[in-house]
Amino acid sequence: MTELDTTQERTPSTPPAWEYADAPESKDIVTLQDRYGLFIGGEFVEPKSGRYMATIDPSTEEVLAEVPEAGAEDVDLAVTAARDAFDSHWRDLPGRERAKYLYRIARALQERAREFAVLESMNGGKPIKESRDIDLPLAAAHFFYYAGWADKLDYAFPGRTAKPIGVAGQVIPWNFPMLMAAWKLAPALATGNTTVLKPAETTPLTALLLAEVIQAAELPPGAVNVITGAGETGAALVAADVDKVAFTGSTEVGKAIRRTVAGTNKRLTLELGGKAANIVFEDAPLDQAVEGVVNGIFFNQGHVCCAGSRLLVQEPIFDALLEKLKARLQTLRVGDPLDKNTDIGAINSRAQLTRIEELVASGVEEGAEMYQPVCDLPERGFWFRPTLFTGVSQSHRIAREEIFGPVLSILTFRTPEEAVEKANNTPYGLSAGVWTEKGSRILWMAERLQAGVVWANTFNRFDPSSPFGGYKESGFGREGGLHGLAPYVELTPRNGAS
Ligand code: NAP
Ligand code: MG
Repeated sequence: MTELDTTQERTPSTPPAWEYADAPESKDIVTLQDRYGLFIGGEFVEPKSGRYMATIDPSTEEVLAEVPEAGAEDVDLAVTAARDAFDSHWRDLPGRERAKYLYRIARALQERAREFAVLESMNGGKPIKESRDIDLPLAAAHFFYYAGWADKLDYAFPGRTAKPIGVAGQVIPWNFPMLMAAWKLAPALATGNTTVLKPAETTPLTALLLAEVIQAAELPPGAVNVITGAGETGAALVAADVDKVAFTGSTEVGKAIRRTVAGTNKRLTLELGGKAANIVFEDAPLDQAVEGVVNGIFFNQGHVCCAGSRLLVQEPIFDALLEKLKARLQTLRVGDPLDKNTDIGAINSRAQLTRIEELVASGVEEGAEMYQPVCDLPERGFWFRPTLFTGVSQSHRIAREEIFGPVLSILTFRTPEEAVEKANNTPYGLSAGVWTEKGSRILWMAERLQAGVVWANTFNRFDPSSPFGGYKESGFGREGGLHGLAPYVELTPRNGAS
């Protein structure tokens, strides 16, 4: 990092430094176990594999607990438990009864929100103000939302009967552990499927706490199973006797999963990477756009598949926007995820930090100009300063590859046509942002941008009723909203309907 540090500077417009008092959220609310079990058939059990792995706090590198590394036998036991629960109970339960369980989970998440938020920040490194104000409220909202659909599937699919598919194998990443668990479990359960969930290797603890909530909510044993482990466990789950695979993670693993399920009857949805364009036109309200750009790329340390990682700025406002952006970066507070004033927490893992450093170094080598604000970083743990690059060309790796860190690549454009061309010049297509005062231009752009979500004069806004998903190498299938029910149901014409 020393070589990179030399390019740090303070801009003339840097405001005077504010001294903030520490405002740590207490960890007392969280009770950690030394060792956790796998949640199979409604019980926490020791892994047949006999293997455990340590899970750490990425802001201190301190070991928090040991969790099982589920082997093939454990995966099969979990899938069998899910199958038994499906056949014996869950599939035939009236929708209004399934809804009661989902409402119970949702309410428990609200009641225990602070505990979940603290644990999420401890295990994943994200700032407490995000886990507290975004991840947990949205996770609970997702369960509430799909609880509402459970007894209304006839209205969701008029003229057709929606039947559950069976057992879903669900593999999720580490950037939004609780929220991704909710995105997977809630629609699957609402539609009458049972599930086996595999959280990411680096962030298993909130999924295991959620398993406790599910146990306390007295869901039929086996309706939800949670198996921890690394990529091998995920691969074993995808290959196991499941009827549906739902995956969120990297495009590379998504492709491997697609190869595994090819030629089988398994249904598949993939939510993969992104390299979203955040496009600012010259008539945009500049201060508002700067906030949106900052939120777009620095929210959750940039560990966001739909992050606005490519900023496209219309040429006449480039200088003005850059100056404001640099000044704003100076005010971002990097540090302890549990401090309520922290804007940017810890990078999720050493592996991810190495990947970010490598891509940032490639940006410098390929001739882009890097800017990082001056700020101290804690000695232990995994950290990366908010970073932006100017002088970026479309061929640079930092303009093409997903960095998945707090790093923004800035390009310019002159006309709306050029903005569309550059925005779509990527193998990905998950999201995009448009900043302009003209409503007609927003619609013109939205029609042409190849992205599952297009935000207008805002960014990174999520709602359970709104579908989310990708184009091209960002995957297929939608999560959220009415659309999010479809991947979990088999539709047949209802009596009398054609
Ligand atoms: P990843 O390997 O795709 O991880 C996603 C999930 O898949 C994790 O639970 C992972 O387990 C599991 N997994 C890994 N290999 C598997 C396999 N062969 N079969 C089935 N499941 C498998 O992502 P990552 O390594 O954590 O991150 C690498 C890159 O992925 C990031 O730099 C970023 O670009 C992208 N990413 C995208 C998203 C997104 O939301 N779209 C989220 C995270 C990462 P382990 O965690 O144990 O490896
Ligand atoms: Mg991995």
